[in-house]
Amino acid sequence: MNRSLAPLAAVVITAACGGSATPAAVPAPAPTPVAAAPSAPAIPDTMRSYAVPAFRTDTMITWGPLPPGTPHPERARIYDLQHQVVHVRFDWPRHAVVGSTTIRVAALDKPLTTIPLDAVGMTIQKVSAPNGARLKYDYDGSTLTVRLPGTLRPRSTTSFAVDYEAVRPKKGAYFIDRRHVVWTQGETEDNRYWVPTWDFPNDKATWEFYIQTDTNEKALSNGALRGQPRRVGNQLEWHWVLDQPNSTYLMTAATGDYVVLQDKWRNVPVGYWTYPDSVEATWRGMGKTPRMIELFSNKTGVDYPFAKYDQLNAPDYIFGGMENVTATTQADDDILHPAWAEPQANAEGLVSHELGHQWYGDYLTTRDWSHVWLNEGFATFMEQTWTEFGMGADEGAMDRLGAHQQTIAADRAARRPLVYNRWVTDPLELFFSGHIYPKGATVLQMIRHQLGDSLFWRGMNRYTTQHAKGNVVSDDLRAAFEQVSGRDFKPFFDKWVYGAGFPVFQVSYSYDSTAHTVTLDAREVQQRDSLTGYFDPDVDVEILTDGAPVRGVVQVRNGAGHASFTVASAPRSIRWDKGNWLLDLTDFPRPTVMLAWQLAHDDDVVGRIEAVDLLAKRTDELIARRALIAATHDAAHAVRGRAVAALRSQAGAPMVADAIIAASRDSDARVRQSALRALAAVHSSAAAARAREAATGDSSLINRGSALMTLAALDGDAALDVIKSALASDSWLDLSRTQAVTALGTIDSPTAIPTLMRYIGTGTARNTRVAAIDALTARAAGHEAEVAAAIEPLLGVDDDIFVRIEAAGALGELKQQSSIAALEARRKVEAESRVINTIDAALAAIRK
Ligand SMILES: [Zn+2]
Repeated sequence: MNRSLAPLAAVVITAACGGSATPAAVPAPAPTPVAAAPSAPAIPDTMRSYAVPAFRTDTMITWGPLPPGTPHPERARIYDLQHQVVHVRFDWPRHAVVGSTTIRVAALDKPLTTIPLDAVGMTIQKVSAPNGARLKYDYDGSTLTVRLPGTLRPRSTTSFAVDYEAVRPKKGAYFIDRRHVVWTQGETEDNRYWVPTWDFPNDKATWEFYIQTDTNEKALSNGALRGQPRRVGNQLEWHWVLDQPNSTYLMTAATGDYVVLQDKWRNVPVGYWTYPDSVEATWRGMGKTPRMIELFSNKTGVDYPFAKYDQLNAPDYIFGGMENVTATTQADDDILHPAWAEPQANAEGLVSHELGHQWYGDYLTTRDWSHVWLNEGFATFMEQTWTEFGMGADEGAMDRLGAHQQTIAADRAARRPLVYNRWVTDPLELFFSGHIYPKGATVLQMIRHQLGDSLFWRGMNRYTTQHAKGNVVSDDLRAAFEQVSGRDFKPFFDKWVYGAGFPVFQVSYSYDSTAHTVTLDAREVQQRDSLTGYFDPDVDVEILTDGAPVRGVVQVRNGAGHASFTVASAPRSIRWDKGNWLLDLTDFPRPTVMLAWQLAHDDDVVGRIEAVDLLAKRTDELIARRALIAATHDAAHAVRGRAVAALRSQAGAPMVADAIIAASRDSDARVRQSALRALAAVHSSAAAARAREAATGDSSLINRGSALMTLAALDGDAALDVIKSALASDSWLDLSRTQAVTALGTIDSPTAIPTLMRYIGTGTARNTRVAAIDALTARAAGHEAEVAAAIEPLLGVDDDIFVRIEAAGALGELKQQSSIAALEARRKVEAESRVINTIDAALAAIRK
């Protein structure tokens, strides 16, 4: 699965990857004792720039509390689900799933007299034996318990059929009226809302779907299409057969007026299911799939393991994507974008993530939700693999850096081990804490770096082939790496998989000009407790001198590391964790001149980013400022964008404003966006004129929005004409209107609140509604009751999930007692855990 982004956020995040003002994970050195007001430096600038600052005095990170919830051990298997045939029809007038399913089960090692099935909110019409005889059953609204006619002996099989209906299912199957499309969503435990089944990952079965559609429509499901669709009355019936066993949360059915664009990898059909009006954008979004399949097949040594691969564009989808085996569902907003939106909009991350799941998640499946990093961390790792090999080493390194930053933020908010089984209402809560995706991928990258590519991929191949078509836990992975390497991976897994946190270092250096040595000393200073100890890694270091670079390793043991390196001349710059393979936070105070050298000379893009982030705290020093200005011409867009953002704090200084304005014309839209944001700190008529020009003329609509925000910050009311024109224009993802609403929220105008209220109701696009609620909440001071009263009704209708989340969150911020009734009423009928969790937090905030 891939997290759904409210699409505005998607745009912002995509753009942020390109080097905007995203806060850096790399810590800043402590202010030097001489860092007085820049206008009156205590010592000359150049001398200060050669001094080594002191260590920071703050704790670099405080671990957040464990995520809440009660433990949920793996559900014990009762029987073996072997094969399931589902006949299903979607009844549009009633929004009902009308189905009949035949289920074959085998007893395990105990005799059985009843078979419990997960089936939520259904009407059960009958349960029958293969000879047609009716079987008795009990049904409590969530478990259908079928009473077998006799005792089923161990390892023998039986089958029966269930006829059922699910009218307006709260989850699982979604009827999207505006496109006349039905799609389903199983993960985590939601297929039980539309198909009675064993709905837990630890059993694998084969299945078939017979799906009825109107004659102008098509149906997609897992596996291979058997023959041509058959005419049944005035409907078509599509028969899909999955002949490799899989976990039932990967069942899918989708219907609609789709066209299928046919591609292929070797002899495997690859299909892109899309709307007739979106063919070109679909090729743009999905067209690299065969190249990705080739890369993943080669890297894993396991050819794509299924007979075909289809991807479906889903309207109003509730996640980014879902790896339903052989039939991935993806949010159309995340796939379909116009050509001008690249590279800020890019579907390759999502497409490669869901494709990676076909190996990790589908071919091999976590046995239990607590080990779900074996699905999601792996899919994220495969996504990083595509980024590195498909888009280049710099992009790969930036992708890995982003994962580190997300993991660090996650541990700051709520530290937890990678393997974790506590949640409040839904296992889905395990997914998006920031651990299993980015940290899972990072753990694999660390193993890759320890073993080297060749041995690492042999380990991956061993794991993949040994557990093909099976269920896995984390120790299966450990065993595979131990088998191929002969090394003991228990200490590593104890720290990084079953333990929590990461190392935090204080590093210092000294240079002996007589002995020609550089000595490095490191200490682990993280808070240690039962979950986090010492990590004791081997850390790559690099020293740049006027001669050849000196590279080596510092072995940290029992929390301390010390190593000396011979150098031909004085060190120009020193990198701790060259290549950024280790997940860590480090305070390594170095003089400004060293950082400036690193920014100009490090061949590792992450090293240059580190230098930018540290120099950003020293822009009162001329050397730092000059280095950052020079970096706005770096070869890597990420460095250029980050350098422009770093200059913001000195935007009034000579040369800096010119550099920011120049960068707002960079050829890369991501750099321009960073510059257009930084322009808000340049208080000059030239800056305002440039912002106005970009707000109406940049080739990227995304950048027009950023320029509009800057114009609103610089010019206030004077931006209203541009805002009005954007509010009136239709665009991809309703982007112009969304951005105009956001900008309006920052302007102090009496028309702001009444105008914003016009955009929160149905009839406006999802993104714009979410942005309007957000802007209203931010502007509400003095009008809290009025704004809350406008937002409360959004919870009362069956509305978009993202609007419900945003509305509940807004009410929590507005803290009106009068909102409690609306929140409680929604809480009673709400089924989506993400909304439930937000409502609970809002109620707690109001009552506090
Ligand atoms: Zn995923």
